[in-house]
Amino acid sequence: MNIHEYQAKELLKSFGVPVPPGIAVRSPDEARDAAKSLGGDLFVVKAQIHAGGRGAGHYVGDPACSGVRLVKTAAEARAAAFEMLDRTLVTRQTGSQGRVVRRLYVEAGCAIDRELYLSLLIDRTERCITVVASEAGGMSIEDVAAKTPEKIMKIRISPSLGLADHQSRELATRLGLHGPLIGQFATIVHAAWEAFTTLDASLIEMNPLVVTKDNTLLALDAKMGFDDNGLFRHRAIQELRDPNEEDPREQEAARFGLSYVSLDGTIGCMVNGAGLAMATMDIIHQEGESPANFLDVGGGSSREKVGAAFRVLLSAPGLEGVLVNIFGGIMRCDIIADAVISACRETGLNVPLVIRLAGTNVEEGMAMIRSCGLDLIIATDLGDAARKIVTAVRTRRAA
Ligand code: ADP
Ligand code: MG
Repeated sequence: MNIHEYQAKELLKSFGVPVPPGIAVRSPDEARDAAKSLGGDLFVVKAQIHAGGRGAGHYVGDPACSGVRLVKTAAEARAAAFEMLDRTLVTRQTGSQGRVVRRLYVEAGCAIDRELYLSLLIDRTERCITVVASEAGGMSIEDVAAKTPEKIMKIRISPSLGLADHQSRELATRLGLHGPLIGQFATIVHAAWEAFTTLDASLIEMNPLVVTKDNTLLALDAKMGFDDNGLFRHRAIQELRDPNEEDPREQEAARFGLSYVSLDGTIGCMVNGAGLAMATMDIIHQEGESPANFLDVGGGSSREKVGAAFRVLLSAPGLEGVLVNIFGGIMRCDIIADAVISACRETGLNVPLVIRLAGTNVEEGMAMIRSCGLDLIIATDLGDAARKIVTAVRTRRAA
């Protein structure tokens, strides 16, 4: 689960990360009042969406208006908010459809000397939390990694020993920080580490973390993601969920306890078991098409759950075909067959569907599929299933 910048800043601040004062608002008048109460002569009005690249992004129909606006007065903050609220912002992370901006963050502006990059993340290859830092902050870290990988520094944090002070001090020195900034940097890394481990985060990113003109460190942008499997331990974090920012299909699937991830391909996959789901996605790729989703319906699914999975799957935009690939263990193939048949009837399925069943009660399941009178394509194994759905999708596309 991800949260907004203003929420991440509030959390990080409570752990001791220095951030500029700011106020989240939902209307132009609130933006004006926020600037007035912050005081000073420089404000930044920032679109709150779960996507980065806002500063370099632009509003649909207004290429001159980005998602991060520097203004000098409360009246200008109000005017900027008027242009930014309830409209669609496109950034390199939103895709071309963009995101509707429903909230803004009005923040005190600061004079920047240097922009650095700092993040903590779970490095699955190293099997530990890793601190990533770079002198090239403020820009997309993916670009830095691609073009100037030597500017990215990483330190592994030992799961048993935790973060050692010398590790962050060494990182500070390698970033070219001097004097009191070294201690400040170590404090920030330590605070982020505390936040990360206490809250079961999966990512904490400050891009940029800046050195201000008066020589202090300040996190000007903050992003936090949380491990969904740890969320039950953090009610306060659950409250920060913003349904507007989440994929409606993923939310619907979550209500039924299904693991569903939307992808941008054309073939909807209904599979049980994460391993089989991954293999199914791989083999679709190998045949030259791509999956519209990852879906694991789980082991002991009821007919209701399978029906829900099917409805979610069929609502995917750009869907051109469906591949059902189930290995019946605890899950019985006849239940799957029954659920698939009734879901097809209910939804009036109008794309090709290939079904491959194996395992418990497979004969009963296949008999139901053969005799149901629907135009379903039966496959004998995974390779056969992938070839058949790709052929069916391509034939339909050509027609
Ligand atoms: P995004 O990463 O989505 O583009 P950021 O919060 O990183 O959004 O803002 C983009 C840029 O705007 C930053 O790199 C920084 O240069 C500037 N900026 C952001 N917040 C402030 C602030 N409070 N004061 C001054 N400049 C800021
Ligand atoms: Mg940023």
